[in-house]
Amino acid sequence: MLTERMELAKRVLDVSTESAFEVLAQAKQLERQGKSVIHFEIGEPDWDTPDHIKEAAIKALREGFTHYTPSAGIPELRQAIAEKLLQERDVHLDYENQILITPGAKPNLLYAIFSLANPGDRVLIPDPSFPSYWALTKLAGAVAVPLTLTQERDFSIDPEQVRKEAKTGAKLLILSFPSNPCGSVLSERDVKDIAEIAQKYNLWVLSDEIYQKFVYEGQHHRSIFNQAGMTDRTVVVDSFSKTYAMTGWRLGFALGPSALIEKMTRLQIHLASCPNSFVQKAALQALMGPQDFFKDMLHEYDLRRKAIVDGLNSIKGFHCSMPKGAFYAFPNTLSTGLSSKELSERLLNEALVATLDGASFGTGGDGFLRLSYATKLAKIKEGLQRMKEFMQEKL
Ligand code: PLP
Repeated sequence: MLTERMELAKRVLDVSTESAFEVLAQAKQLERQGKSVIHFEIGEPDWDTPDHIKEAAIKALREGFTHYTPSAGIPELRQAIAEKLLQERDVHLDYENQILITPGAKPNLLYAIFSLANPGDRVLIPDPSFPSYWALTKLAGAVAVPLTLTQERDFSIDPEQVRKEAKTGAKLLILSFPSNPCGSVLSERDVKDIAEIAQKYNLWVLSDEIYQKFVYEGQHHRSIFNQAGMTDRTVVVDSFSKTYAMTGWRLGFALGPSALIEKMTRLQIHLASCPNSFVQKAALQALMGPQDFFKDMLHEYDLRRKAIVDGLNSIKGFHCSMPKGAFYAFPNTLSTGLSSKELSERLLNEALVATLDGASFGTGGDGFLRLSYATKLAKIKEGLQRMKEFMQEKL
């Protein structure tokens, strides 16, 4: 028990959490009591990491590749990332100075926000969006300014809202598309407009693109990094977690201007020394090895996406738009008459279906639920059935 004289630092007293991990813990607790829960809460592929990636890690371990690596990551992995980006997205990078490998994507969010935002600086954040942006901005002493995403605008950022906030002064704009929790993407027009605004009002952009490959309907991800004049003011955050079903391995990366990457690397030196050595060898294999795995996974996600949206729209009080990216459905549940917090709690405890309250992604998510469809189709159908029955019988 802490006494009054043993106070913790103010900065950590009200650090917010990530609800996905909290709800997962509650669901696991129910499972320990012998109940069977359908998991729509946690955003991670239900695929196992492909064998050729695992083998590369095992080989690296057997060969004794178990020591510190350069802080920014092994050069061959940075080079492979640069080559892939050139091939797939026509992005030219100096791999020695513009790429930083990190333990998961998340450290990059901290490194970038801490390197760019001074205390009191305004940081523009899509609302709703990934909880860590809000928590880290606050920890940096900066001011989070929400950019409300609406269902009417398909949950994409309105460039005019960015302009309005940028005019009054802002340092950093966070983009996070395809979006967690909304599954929305940015249109070509919007990306162009936002790039112009960023240059006009001197904004830095942190573009979290960890779902960049999860785009449906034959579309491609559009990165602000590719817009003219943006490479000097954009830091892109990406990860092996979702694309290669490697969430537990903890490996991500960032690309950006060398002056910023240098400072982010300094932060990494103090936080982690370097990314995990043998996981970097596995990631190299992930990039260089066969890519069919991803195509199969995306095809399966697409089937699930349609099934979950159809199913949600058949439930009383739910209204769900078709998401164009990531693997999340974000139904509007306002007409159920319950707050999204209460609905998500009751669905978990009474229907044994774990979902997330949209408000845990920002106040703009109030009145919505987030459901991850990175789970088997049979489970999706079962979960939808339970939700439907709950709505018919209990409300
Ligand atoms: N950014 C977004 C938008 C995410 O949804 C997640 C994880 O769910 C992360 C970052 C963190 O990724 P990683 O597991 O690679 O740290």
